[in-house]
Amino acid sequence: MVVDLKSLRTDVWVDWCPGCGNFGILNATQRAIVELGIEPNKIVIVSGIGCSGKTPHFINVNGVHTLHGRAIPFATGIKIANPELTVIVHGGDGDLLGIGAGHFVALGRRNLDITVVMHNNGVYGLTKGQASPTLFRGEQTKALPKPNIQDAVNPIALALASGYTFVARTYSLNIKHYVETLKMAIQHKGSAFIDVLQPCVVYNDIYTKDFFKERIYVLEEDGWDPVVEPGTPMETIEEKINNAIQKSLEWGDKIPIGIFYMNKAVPEFGERLNTLIDNYTLIPPAKQPIAREDGKPIITNQDFRELFSRYIIRRR
Ligand code: SF4
Repeated sequence: MVVDLKSLRTDVWVDWCPGCGNFGILNATQRAIVELGIEPNKIVIVSGIGCSGKTPHFINVNGVHTLHGRAIPFATGIKIANPELTVIVHGGDGDLLGIGAGHFVALGRRNLDITVVMHNNGVYGLTKGQASPTLFRGEQTKALPKPNIQDAVNPIALALASGYTFVARTYSLNIKHYVETLKMAIQHKGSAFIDVLQPCVVYNDIYTKDFFKERIYVLEEDGWDPVVEPGTPMETIEEKINNAIQKSLEWGDKIPIGIFYMNKAVPEFGERLNTLIDNYTLIPPAKQPIAREDGKPIITNQDFRELFSRYIIRRR
């Protein structure tokens, strides 16, 4: 099946505010899917609540618009049930690092092969611009009556500390960079996180297009080497993680985008499951037969007990 940009559009009206950085994310996500040639029935986009949560409505692939902060658990279930699928989570910084922060950490620890795309705009745009977890203390965007009194979360450092094996940042209006970053994240075998700087043109009058235009530079153009290959000594890995954390603190006159860290040596969660469940990779839950050999459907409690008994992990 030929996948092109036209076939990935839906007839749902894209109701983001005119000029919103989310349009860049939508456009570039569709381009990345086309360039990777992934068939629409082999991809699932899962979102939580927020302006970013609408993304699955606008891309003609499988989509699930879930609960606030819960996109990652839904995506985890989908990926574990059917590892063949490409699973992408779209969430805002409020959704993923506020109410969903525990799930965000858990995904990194598992290194399950899911890509998390965070629409980072520093505000809760859908509910009129309250300070979100990435807005720095002391900043006062136009919807805030007083400057923010909470400290910000550093998403790159949190992803690294949680165990994500692909950690990157891109800018929603640099389509070329976003497309290449997303393609690499999808192709990476493990938990991938992309912090997408996304101007909210209505509620964030600090992190505007002009603000980013003057400051953003691409890490890779600076001789940066974030990749850990299998067999890399532990001291080198620690050095690369430390370097990535240091880079993530750079936020002022210059703001880096690019791959901060990519570790190809950590076993993916499916491989770990395969050591506990016989033939998990060959016959994951979604590939289980739904009928017995005589053609009768599996419908009794006993049938289900037998069907799922192989997934019950017992001490060996
Ligand atoms: Fe975009 Fe902000 Fe409007 Fe939401 S409120 S659609 S993030 S500009």
